[in-house]
This record gives sequence, C-alpha cells and structure tokens, in this order.
Amino acid sequence: MSFSFDPGALFRRDLQDLVPYEVQGTADFTVKLDANESPFGLPAAVREEICRELTVRSFNRYPDPLARELVADLSRHTGVPAEGILAGNGSDELILTLLLAFGTGGKAVITPPTFPMYEVHARIAGAKPVAVPRQGESFALDVDGVIAAAGQPETRLVFICSPNNPTGNATSLAELEAVLKSCRALVVVDEAYQEFGGETALPLLGRYPNLVVLRTFSKAFGLAGLRVGYLLARPEVVRQLKRVKQPYNLNAFSQLAARAALKHWEEYRRLIAAIKEEREELYRELCLLPGVKAHPSEANFILFRTPLPAEEVHRHLLANGILIRRLGGPGLEGYLRVTVGKRDENRLFLEKLREALQTGGCAR
Ligand SMILES: *Cc1c(COP(=O)(O)O)cnc(C)c1O
Repeated sequence: MSFSFDPGALFRRDLQDLVPYEVQGTADFTVKLDANESPFGLPAAVREEICRELTVRSFNRYPDPLARELVADLSRHTGVPAEGILAGNGSDELILTLLLAFGTGGKAVITPPTFPMYEVHARIAGAKPVAVPRQGESFALDVDGVIAAAGQPETRLVFICSPNNPTGNATSLAELEAVLKSCRALVVVDEAYQEFGGETALPLLGRYPNLVVLRTFSKAFGLAGLRVGYLLARPEVVRQLKRVKQPYNLNAFSQLAARAALKHWEEYRRLIAAIKEEREELYRELCLLPGVKAHPSEANFILFRTPLPAEEVHRHLLANGILIRRLGGPGLEGYLRVTVGKRDENRLFLEKLREALQTGGCAR
C-alpha cells in the first residue's frame, strides 16, 4: 500500500530554488571546449606508472582518510608542510568543507562573475553569500569593496578565484595581500588555473594565517574524471577542516593516480606550455574577427562576445559538433567561453565561428 507523499514539501525551505547541476548532453559533439578540461589524455609514462601500481595494490580496504602518501608528495611539490595540506574529492568538495567548517550561520564574500560553486555551496552549508561584483570591462576585483565586506563581523570566508573563471584575469599579490591583512576572515584563493598563469599566493602563507590556497588535478593535470583537489593553508586551519570532512572522501585509486601524475610533473610542464601557446594564438585570432571582443586570459579558456546573440553562435557551433560554454547572469549577458583545446580543435572552432559570423542574420 502506498500513501501520498511529497518529498518536495520536506525539502529545505531556504533552497527551494536550487536546481540540480546539469551538463549539456554528451551526444552530438566531437570537439569539447566547454568545461576547461585538459585536451590531453594520460601521458604514457603516467599510464604505465598507474598500471604498475595496480598490479601490487588492492582495494578491499578503505582508503587512507588523510591521503598521507599523496600529501607527502604534494608537500614536496609545493614546499608547504604536510600538516598544512588537505586533499579532497575535487576542489569542489573542499569548497563545501570550508563552508561547513567556517561558514554556516555566517556570511561568505563572493566576487561575481566567478565560479558559481562558491555561492551554491555557501547556500547548501547555510552561509549567506555576499556579492561584491567585479568592475568594468576588465572584470577587475573591487578590492575596496571586498575589504569592506570582508571586515563585517559576520563574514567568515572570502572567495577569490585567480586566475578567475570565467573572466580569465588574475588578481595581483599586492591586492590579495591588501585583503588578507584587512580582515580576520579566511581568504580562499582558488588557484584552479594557476599552472597556466597569474602569480601564486603561496608565498603569502608565511605572513597571513588566514590564507587558504585551493588547487586541483582537474585542469593542468588532466584528471577531471578522477576528482582530486587539495588545499594549502596553515596547520591550524587544516586541523579544523579535518573535524568536519568526510572520512573517506578521496578514493584509493584517485590517490595513487594523482601521485603518478605528480611524479611526472615535467611531462605536464610541456603540455601546459603547449596550451599557453595555443591560448595566445586563439586570442590573437579571436581579436581579428570583426566585432568580436575577446578578453585576455591567464588560464586555459577565453571569454568572448560577438555581435550576434550568443545562443545563435552557440547553436551554429553545436550543429558543427563543437561544444563551448554559454554564460549569462549579471555582467555576462551575451558572453561565451571557449576552452583552449588542441591545435586542430581550436582551428575548427575558429573556422566555424567565422562561418557563424558571416552567415549570421541571414540564417534565421
Ligand atoms: C574547474 C574549477 C575547479 C575544479 O574543481 P574540481 O572539483 O577540483 O574538479 C575549482 N575552481 C574553479 C574556479 C574551477 O574553474
């Protein structure tokens, strides 16, 4: 027997407008330039390393909750002591962990347009997002505005993405330092794209105990499918986070794969250099297209706008098997974001974009 039951009525009242995270269909495209992933598969040496590990490892036991081997490798890679490193199931999870540990019941400063997960996770954790919009055509951080919001007694966290997704610009160390020294909130600098440009905030960790740096294996290391992120902070901060994190947040396979990738950092250096070269080329080409406004980028993607409605461009590209990201919301109406792919992918994208701009207006 059954009775009428509406789980929607039980769902949290404060999150009634929340929608599930969705990605565009995996169906009809061959060139995927929408999610800032690496276009490169596993380097052969990393694949071999992982296979070698698999022959001697078992997965019948729970993973190490603190991912100590990976953390030791990350300590060597970054120069940060192991006690100041926390690994997570993607940096997405670490953003939520930060908010659950420090944000609930307080405020979290965000600087839109930026990565949407800070706001979503703030709300899920029961922290109030406070927006300090970026300014002008260059989407520069409103440093004075951030300092004013960060100084409010209810503010627990400040999220600054640098280089910023989706605008591509980085925040200078001087500006980050101005924010860090002005407040007693945690200042989280999301460096998901640091390998591609911008200055790392890490040197500031010695002077500012309220700094948290977020990194990921999803972009430059090309391991988005394995979900590995990490944060770098003072040991006192990491100790608090360990109190609320899920015990087995990072699975054993992903731990060993991330270690294999780190071991071959030199290989990734070459891939990163190739992506940066392609980025500059793609930017130059976009700027040459009539009416197109492209934003300079320190990351592995480029934000741009064309004289045509964004939907129209997006649709034309999709009809030709190319998926890019359509943006929207305050400050981003009419904008598109393209991830830097391999050379032939970028060529094809440019060719089809040119085509859309030539036929646009007639093809409606
Ligand atoms: C892609 C991205 C991440 C990465 O998230 P993971 O959960 O590690 O895959 C984090 N922050 C920003 C700004 C990003 O664009």
